[in-house]
Amino acid sequence: MKRVVLLGPPGVGKGTQAELISEKYNMLHISTGDIFRANIKEGTPLGKTAKEYMEKGLLVPDELVCDLVEDRLTWDDCKDGYLLDGFPRTVYQAERFDSWLKSRGEDLSVVLDIQASDELLIGRATGRRVCPACGKTYHIVSNPPKTEGICDNCGTALIQRADDAEETVKKRLKVYQDQTSPLIEYYTGTGKIAEVDGAPGLMEVFEQICALLGE
Ligand code: AMP
Repeated sequence: MKRVVLLGPPGVGKGTQAELISEKYNMLHISTGDIFRANIKEGTPLGKTAKEYMEKGLLVPDELVCDLVEDRLTWDDCKDGYLLDGFPRTVYQAERFDSWLKSRGEDLSVVLDIQASDELLIGRATGRRVCPACGKTYHIVSNPPKTEGICDNCGTALIQRADDAEETVKKRLKVYQDQTSPLIEYYTGTGKIAEVDGAPGLMEVFEQICALLGE
């Protein structure tokens, strides 16, 4: 039973690696970004609030995200472990999450820290395309769909997320540097962190992750 956190800047391929890990290890993939996007699509009050921040490339307020995740992780489908993609995103979130886990007698298995240069990340994010229906992600160069612009899974036309536009990406990288990268030090202190080089192709990155997670 594993509880895994995927850490890394926007565009590093967290979502794609999460899908691969989830499939191979049969782990439940929980993405806070996906939860927010689903709420925006459904027009819920949570979605309306999250949208204001996401459109500007800013983080959604900590309390809101922590309440949401803590609620989601008490669902029955999480009792055999999970893979968190996009949470925690600030030291506050990590500290509150650690206390929450501790109060339940639980612990994280590992924090996978995927790293790459800003230049590479900007190319990755601006080339990313997403299926608005099923959520599957692609990249126009490194992971294209079989038919250009169309989802392999469900045949829906792919879109570029508003927060993947170049200016927003640069802003998100700055937000990552300022607010999320201090988490690396935080988790180094807990001895849970494992470094992954996010620069090579997606299967090579996945191999590094498999070596860390074991069979
Ligand atoms: P992602 O799909 O993980 O890149 O998330 C997209 C956007 O959702 C982020 O740029 C934030 O605005 C918001 N978001 C997702 N997860 C979090 C989090 N843990 N804390 C704050 N904001 C988040």
